[in-house]
Amino acid sequence: QPGQAKLRVQKRELGQTGLRVSVVGFGASPLGGVFREDIDETDACAAVYQALHDFGINFFDTSPYYGSTRSERVLGKALAQLGERDDYVLATKVGRYGPNNFDFSKERVRRSVEESMERLGVRRLDLVQCHDVEFAPSRRLIVEEALPALCQLKQEGVIGALGVTGYPLAIYRDIIEASTVELDVVLSYCHGCLCDTSLRDSGVLAYLREQNIGVLNASPLSMGLLTPDGPPAWHPAPPELKACCRTAAAWLASQQVNAGISTDLAEVALQFAVQRFAQDDVASTLVGIDGTITLRKNMQALAKPLDDMLLKGVQEILKPVRNVGWESGRPRS
Ligand code: NAD
Repeated sequence: QPGQAKLRVQKRELGQTGLRVSVVGFGASPLGGVFREDIDETDACAAVYQALHDFGINFFDTSPYYGSTRSERVLGKALAQLGERDDYVLATKVGRYGPNNFDFSKERVRRSVEESMERLGVRRLDLVQCHDVEFAPSRRLIVEEALPALCQLKQEGVIGALGVTGYPLAIYRDIIEASTVELDVVLSYCHGCLCDTSLRDSGVLAYLREQNIGVLNASPLSMGLLTPDGPPAWHPAPPELKACCRTAAAWLASQQVNAGISTDLAEVALQFAVQRFAQDDVASTLVGIDGTITLRKNMQALAKPLDDMLLKGVQEILKPVRNVGWESGRPRS
């Protein structure tokens, strides 16, 4: 609206990459239809445009895996309308192409980066990460094939930075210590949110900082677990965790507070992740955005403070399941 002040998100350095990313990043997996199929592409493009121009969200994260390349294709359309390439930071991934389809070989990594650039309509990528490394048939593939291939692409100037993503927190150190290629960035998910703060509690965040590795904290709503409507059917959380989150959502919704305070579990969870969990050791919190309504709802939520009494109440309900996660990846020796 003319004359209306626009909320602008701050930026932080992403480790030593030289990239400055907004402290709230645009998670583009929902654009692939991962959470609901009926994505309106025109609205998705408007969300990407508004994220950058209205709110200063300059960091976009996708993967060929999300919706079998749909997320990249939709994001590519949106980026074409966005403006200068230098105005935004673009991240995608390699190695995961389906629920059980992984290929971290050197050849596939190179081809994957080319295919992603084609779909995204760009000639360089700011960050490329090995996607869900705990599923790799062996650690050797990551440290001897995928990371060296990304390192070569970085030397060629095709990509700006490289890293890994994965769910089990122990996997990052395991790879960092085995790798001759220096990692620039690690993306952790569902471990820096209202029901799980193990990224910090485990000391892994401090370790990554010591290593000068930039950290992305993804899934502040724990992939839909921390929303009033609950998670999608595929969500891997155990039943007791899902039940506790449902109780938390109902309790919050029943609270009588003034209009400046949010009682929607998704909003409270986002406020917690961005305003409390993330310090300057988390470069960006990546939240999944499926369109303009979600974008605006989240930006309005972040303009409000998180009420301490509400936080205490909801944390008390979630206490029995705090840091309870789920198995992910291949059994490791
Ligand atoms: P999330 O916790 O950010 O949110 C997931 C769901 O909540 C989506 O359906 C989203 O549209 C919805 N949502 C967002 N705001 C809402 C609100 N205010 N009210 C109700 N619903 C709301 O989970 P996510 O999308 O999985 O994570 C964010 C991003 O992080 C992803 O899009 C992806 O880019 C990245 N990520 C990467 C990995 C990986 O590399 N392995 C894993 C998880 C996430």
